[in-house]
Amino acid sequence: MQQLSSKEYKNEFVNTFDGDDSGELHPRQTPGVLYSKATPTPVKKPTLLAWSEDLAKELGIEKPSSQEETDILGGNLVTDTMQPYAACYAGHQFGHWAGQLGDGRAITLGEWEVATGKTFELQLKGAGPTPYSRRADGRAVLRSSVREYLMSEAMHYLGVPTTRALSLVATGDEVLRDMFYNGNAAYEPGAIVMRVAPSFLRFGNFEMPAARKEIDNLRKLVDWTISRYYPHIQGEDKVLRWFKEVLERTAALMVDWMRVGFVHGVMNTDNMSILGLTIDYGPYSFLDDYDPKFTPNTTDLPGRRYAFGRQPAIAKWNLGCLASALAPLFSGTEELVAALEGYDAIYWEKYYTMMANKLGLEQVDKENVSFIDDFEKALITLKPDMTIFYQLLADLPLELQDEQQVADHFKESFYAAPDKAERQLLYNTTQAYVEKLGKNTAPREESQKRMRANNPRIILRNYLLSQAIEGLESGDDSLFIKLQEALKDTYSNKSDEFFAKRPEWATKKAGCSMLSCSS
Ligand code: AMP
Ligand code: MG
Repeated sequence: MQQLSSKEYKNEFVNTFDGDDSGELHPRQTPGVLYSKATPTPVKKPTLLAWSEDLAKELGIEKPSSQEETDILGGNLVTDTMQPYAACYAGHQFGHWAGQLGDGRAITLGEWEVATGKTFELQLKGAGPTPYSRRADGRAVLRSSVREYLMSEAMHYLGVPTTRALSLVATGDEVLRDMFYNGNAAYEPGAIVMRVAPSFLRFGNFEMPAARKEIDNLRKLVDWTISRYYPHIQGEDKVLRWFKEVLERTAALMVDWMRVGFVHGVMNTDNMSILGLTIDYGPYSFLDDYDPKFTPNTTDLPGRRYAFGRQPAIAKWNLGCLASALAPLFSGTEELVAALEGYDAIYWEKYYTMMANKLGLEQVDKENVSFIDDFEKALITLKPDMTIFYQLLADLPLELQDEQQVADHFKESFYAAPDKAERQLLYNTTQAYVEKLGKNTAPREESQKRMRANNPRIILRNYLLSQAIEGLESGDDSLFIKLQEALKDTYSNKSDEFFAKRPEWATKKAGCSMLSCSS
């Protein structure tokens, strides 16, 4: 185990690429470079609120036991071997080219090397202004930091690729936010999350040099990314093969989101990880009632571009942006276009395999695929709580005789009692399901085991997060601590106090169902 303060940090990204070394923090365009040197702006008093023991152990990082160590997590101390920087990236936001964006409030302190030689970027989110802060303050509020901290860890334990969070620190400073964008700005407690990933590179990091026609920078970044994060890809056609692998990982990530019912909320190309990780936790949500049109982001309401059911298609659209950015490295675009066209087949194959696992079916044959389609349509009509419904499905007694018995079995998953037609649909669907189960060769217990491994029982619902945040803001961390424990084992019944539907009041309360981007 090593201390944050005495570790010798690596700075490969900074040492490899051209950057703006002026250290100036005022907002500006930075053509020609891939990052700007940026030192965190100190805060009043960093106080450790949470620490991810498991991640720290994995990385060999000792828990801070002095103010000096905590100061690193709050941006108040930068050690000699750290070369902090903000990355310069661009992006397409809500379908439109947004030009240069960049790390406006994230600062990478350095790269932490572990015994295997692998390195992890340690990045502070909310550490103060950088050249990419535009008109904003570079800070983050406690509520959004708690959400990022808990959810990125929850996704990790759910088995969904994600950036991680090592620590949550209160800054002691207040941050001004207009939470509902309605002219009622108010001060909120500030916080900083230290997040960790092998790399925080996004599609937007590649879009930036491409848009600026800085082809040498683009080629160098692509080569470096491949050799460092995809070292098994070599040879003449490596860029194409790499793009295909990014596409494959992105498709796999979408399937995982569909599996657990995660809605990201802001799938702009600057929020798409080049490693296929879930990145940038903002106005996200889990689905409560099953609704592919649900978007948790108030800014997304007009078009519902980032609604649950659209995520796989949006990922493809974003991959199209990445392909366009890479096009200057190819003599023609045919191969890239063909690779992109391959997305649907790759996605659907993974999707049906995942759904078969969720349903405890062994085969992904034509009949089961057609059943999966019907099953999903039934969910859309019935609108049960997604998580609870699948749990009850795993427990479904096979001998249930009539509509009423089946409706009673699923009672806990419904937000409104099903009417006669819905009860009929539910009955027919479960009958068809039982028939499909009959095609399995292994005993029912095997099928149930498979379902329990693929269907989370506990999810971090927005109302729970909101209650935990209210608690923390008033000095009561009990729910926060409970959630921090519960998220480590979401497939078992260990934390069944959280195995419950969203309560009625939560549909009306801000931050419990819909969220704004203000963070
Ligand atoms: P997001 O929607 O959170 O992915 O952010 C989009 C862009 O806005 C990124 O370039 C962020 O760095 C920047 N940004 C968001 N919030 C802030 C803030 N409070 N201060 C500075 N930049 C910000
Ligand atoms: Mg972002």
